[in-house]
Amino acid sequence: MAIIEIKAKTLLATIRQPDEIFGLKYNMNLYRGCQHQCIYCDSRSQCYGIENFNDILVKANGLEVLEKELAHKRVKGTIGTGSMHDPYMPVEKHYNLTGRALERIAHHGFGVHIITKSDLILRDADILCAIKPVHATVCFSISTTDDEFSRKIEPGAPPVSARFRAMNALAARGISVGVTLMPVLPFLEDTPENITAVVETAAANGASFIIPWFGMSMRDRQREYYYAQLDRLFPGVRQKYERAFGERYGCPARNASRLAALFRSLCLRHELSTRVPSDTPRDSGPSQPSLF
Ligand code: SF4
Repeated sequence: MAIIEIKAKTLLATIRQPDEIFGLKYNMNLYRGCQHQCIYCDSRSQCYGIENFNDILVKANGLEVLEKELAHKRVKGTIGTGSMHDPYMPVEKHYNLTGRALERIAHHGFGVHIITKSDLILRDADILCAIKPVHATVCFSISTTDDEFSRKIEPGAPPVSARFRAMNALAARGISVGVTLMPVLPFLEDTPENITAVVETAAANGASFIIPWFGMSMRDRQREYYYAQLDRLFPGVRQKYERAFGERYGCPARNASRLAALFRSLCLRHELSTRVPSDTPRDSGPSQPSLF
């Protein structure tokens, strides 16, 4: 795994369509590639143009570019980060790009929505508290409560128990925290017991929302990598995928509708929302995003 510094021309991508799920106006990627190396990661797909997902490209001038862009944006809104890489992967300890970007975001009065699998986010709790009056939400990406299993499928990420502890600590500081329960890997995570454990552990650790997707997507290079890892880690499971999904992009969990019904009842019981809280009305009205 190489760490390579590159120069960015732009940093903030404007989201043109209303984002019904996360309420984002802009998206920000300070790195390319991800050290967490989740075996199912969609960012390996050819369409994203990342030739070697093991190499980490660091946008060394990212903060200067961000500063200029924030100063010139006429429309304020929520900036999302964490969809193509984890903003708190280990290299962030050294570069602190995410932390320093948050300081600039706070200074310019934008909101933020972060998706992460790392408890390193606790380092930036004070800055998140400063952004909170505008909008600050943190989604921990969690699809199991089993540390041993998470080490297999997310080998470079902190164990899920550390993510739950970080969630608890941020909730105690008044930060809005929740879970992206996705993907739910078919034949590995799609059991009522697993869904119940994730929802109940999230509720016990201060989550106020959970966004689920009962299944996964698979394309080209992502599928090749995932199947090779299934052969190594879970012999026999690859064949189940091939029989059930062939070359399909959408790979739903077994009994997805029953899991969704269970999920809804658990969320009702624990008073968890199934969408990210928004401080401002969403452009698209109150309809529920269709991720079930
Ligand atoms: S943390 Fe996210 S971006 Fe990084 S490897 Fe895992 S799924 Fe991919």
